[in-house]
Amino acid sequence: MLQIHQFPCLSDNYGLLVHEPESGATAAIDTPDAEEILRQAAAKGWRITDVWNTHWHPDHAGGNAAIKAATGAVVTGPAEVERIGTAADRIVGEGDVVQLGKTKARVLDVGGHTLGHVAFVFDAENIAFVGDALFALGCGRLFEGTPEQMWESLSKLAALPEQTTLYCAHEYTQSNARFAVTVDAANAALAARVAEIDRLRSEGKATVPMTLAQERATNPFLRAPLLKAALGMPGAQDWEAFAEVRRRKDGFKG
Ligand code: ZN
Ligand code: FE
Repeated sequence: MLQIHQFPCLSDNYGLLVHEPESGATAAIDTPDAEEILRQAAAKGWRITDVWNTHWHPDHAGGNAAIKAATGAVVTGPAEVERIGTAADRIVGEGDVVQLGKTKARVLDVGGHTLGHVAFVFDAENIAFVGDALFALGCGRLFEGTPEQMWESLSKLAALPEQTTLYCAHEYTQSNARFAVTVDAANAALAARVAEIDRLRSEGKATVPMTLAQERATNPFLRAPLLKAALGMPGAQDWEAFAEVRRRKDGFKG
């Protein structure tokens, strides 16, 4: 049974430590803030054995070198993490299996936010670490990939079992919610979730993790195919509807 410790890092990132008690193995999922991650691990009494990167951005891989220097952790990630100056010990991509102790996770290519972005899916545990690919009520900006590519990536995540717990890397939920209601105004489940999000945030609580069931019901990016009429593009392909939602979010002044 994995233990997961989530804590705020930088301005709006989450640090994530995954611990397998049987072996003592502990993975930092991304390295937004090496000092804080090392402090949190020490407070838990966990020794970081692994770093698993989702993508190369500095708020995800910027602490790799410091954590490796402090702990000797093995760094696993997509080839692109080498863009910020630290070599990964193991390069992974679609279909690879990584292990934390004896617990297996599957690597999914979810490129689009960056070209090489990956997610780590613990199938038996129904837990997925999705980085900046999918957020609560949102998705990553398309800095490098195309809308078609991102739609394919999000479709892979959407196809996981609905009870999957999703850990994303940022607390962007409340601003995502402000946008979501502008494209999916008729969605009662969304309205209820937005009220719940506002309550959680007013109490200073995290809205991450979330479940895939929640996202399927309320995330306007996953729901793009159902929003075609509302978007004024009834004959569009699914990825085109997604691209339109993404385009509107990019221009949204919340
Ligand atoms: Zn990013
Ligand atoms: Fe990020």
